Amino acid sequence: MVDTGVPSWLDEKCPRWCARTHCEDDHPEDRYHQSEATIFTARAGAGDDVPLNATIRPLELCIRTGRYVGERETWIVIEALEAARPRLLVTEQSARDLLHHLDRHLSRPPRAGRETGRDRRGEDR
Ligand SMILES: [Zn+2]
Repeated sequence: MVDTGVPSWLDEKCPRWCARTHCEDDHPEDRYHQSEATIFTARAGAGDDVPLNATIRPLELCIRTGRYVGERETWIVIEALEAARPRLLVTEQSARDLLHHLDRHLSRPPRAGRETGRDRRGEDR
């Protein structure tokens, strides 16, 4: 067998954003495409205590894009580098929706009684 440098299980092209090195002996759970990380310092927390802001602390947050080989769904993960939490995993579409809603909250938080719980297409979540 000729060594092409491409693992036998990798039967698709890497997306243009994939920066991951794929190896023949990658565990099946590790067979996914992954982008370079975007890392930034933030003040964030898991929000699992009372008061909510008691969990806020300086963290290095990392954003990566990924997709399992053979699957169509691309995800984006936002997670702390040095802690298990906070961690948020969303699909590409949900990331776009999140960006839209974050922009709304940052520019003008919805007023009481105005938040409908519906997305911009008017569909219930
Ligand atoms: Zn890849």
